[in-house]
Amino acid sequence: MAIASINPATGELLEEFDALTDAEVESRLATAARVAVEYRGTDVAQRAHGLRSAADILDAEVDTLAGTMTAEMGKTLSASKAEIAKCAKGLRFYADHGADFLADEAADAGAVGASRAFHRYQPLGVVLAVMPWNFPLWQVIRFAAPSLMAGNVGLLKHASNVPRTALYLEDLFTRAGLPKGAFQTLLVSSSQIEAILQDSRVAAATLTGSEGAGRAVGRTAGEALKKVVLELGGSDPFVVLPSADLEKAAQTATTARCQNNGQSCIAAKRFIVHQDVYDDFIAKFVARMGEQKVGDPTDESTAVGPLATEQGRQDVIDLVDDAVAKGAEVLLGGTVPDGPGWFYPPTVIAGITEEMDLYAEEVFGPVAAVYKAADLDEAVRLANVTRFGLGSNVWTTDPDEIERCIDDFEAGQVFVNGMTTSYPELAFGGVKDSGHGRELTRHGMHEFCNLKTVWVG
Ligand code: NDP
Repeated sequence: MAIASINPATGELLEEFDALTDAEVESRLATAARVAVEYRGTDVAQRAHGLRSAADILDAEVDTLAGTMTAEMGKTLSASKAEIAKCAKGLRFYADHGADFLADEAADAGAVGASRAFHRYQPLGVVLAVMPWNFPLWQVIRFAAPSLMAGNVGLLKHASNVPRTALYLEDLFTRAGLPKGAFQTLLVSSSQIEAILQDSRVAAATLTGSEGAGRAVGRTAGEALKKVVLELGGSDPFVVLPSADLEKAAQTATTARCQNNGQSCIAAKRFIVHQDVYDDFIAKFVARMGEQKVGDPTDESTAVGPLATEQGRQDVIDLVDDAVAKGAEVLLGGTVPDGPGWFYPPTVIAGITEEMDLYAEEVFGPVAAVYKAADLDEAVRLANVTRFGLGSNVWTTDPDEIERCIDDFEAGQVFVNGMTTSYPELAFGGVKDSGHGRELTRHGMHEFCNLKTVWVG
């Protein structure tokens, strides 16, 4: 895949970039390794100052940066601005809490015959981040803020369709006053990643993206015995039970499915509705999905912009066509609009069966698959039927049903009467084929630390 910025709303090529040569990659690895030694010796207050400066720059440059993000990957301008604000908040969160998260943890010295015993968090060194285009700033900041705060240095391999945002990120941290080289963007193709990850100067890796990319990076990391965090796809259930506030559930379901033009790993994708409220909920949901305005992502009234890539849209078309050919019922949408750009309308599909690819695959576009469940047991079974296990949602006011879903959903996160969202204050990650490891909170920061046990006699 060429490293190129292409406007998904028009198909226009904005700029193309050459991949780094092997010699250029070598030079950046050498820089990362050198700076890692220097950077781990900086104190936490200095690192926190760098993160706060980066947040201030984001605040000041929100308009131009939002324009870059929207032009490269098609999210609405308002969504780009919201993402930038979230990144500034995430940077400040780690600046504020980093010292606490990294503080030594006392152990029971007497129990182990020591005069002193404790655990200390130390940086691992150079961490490689392979990141996707869907939240081109947030996915990176979510890794970079805790990692840089912990004293690691970062190497970013961003998705090939967001090179301008990728380059902005390196520039951001340099201008924020971090040592030059503490965060470097590598404009490289995915085929160059195996050698980079195998390099002994790289200590660990994190990847957010598809299962295929996760398996490839996980395999290389495994062979090289390196720590890896994988945040892969999701096909999150959104379960609606009889006591739910249906109006609110339908409204949230629409946002959950259409956010980021339908391209979010934690978007609700399968809507599992109790038979007693099925007709009522579906009528409300289809009406709201139908109200979403599709079009120019720079227009403030637009709710759903184009999909990020032509291939991404083709994948959505193929999933819907396959389901329809096998007997699924399209309740809304399902037809590609004429004209330039990779638009796809909000779509609702019922009658999904196991033979359909839509049953098992993640659909990365504004397509909602709806299922009718006879009771809570069937709803929980359907929620867990997928091989993914990232987020999950349930709508009910019944305390027993809430407890049951918290316990029995096979997912990294359960949101009750709301939609799955990432916050710096909440751990983020999945189980099953959605990956492993956690991001955000102190847990995300500790993924890339050496937890050193200290025993003093
Ligand atoms: P990919 O998983 O291919 O891309 C994510 C990142 O991984 C990119 O930087 C990509 O680089 C890199 N990558 C891809 N293959 C490899 C590899 N073999 N070794 C090392 N790095 C690799 O996502 P796509 O853009 O192709 O999207 C495909 C599907 O992935 C979506 O439809 C969706 O289902 C899922 N996805 C999930 C995301 C999530 O948030 N969990 C985010 C994005 C996609 P390059 O761009 O150069 O190929």
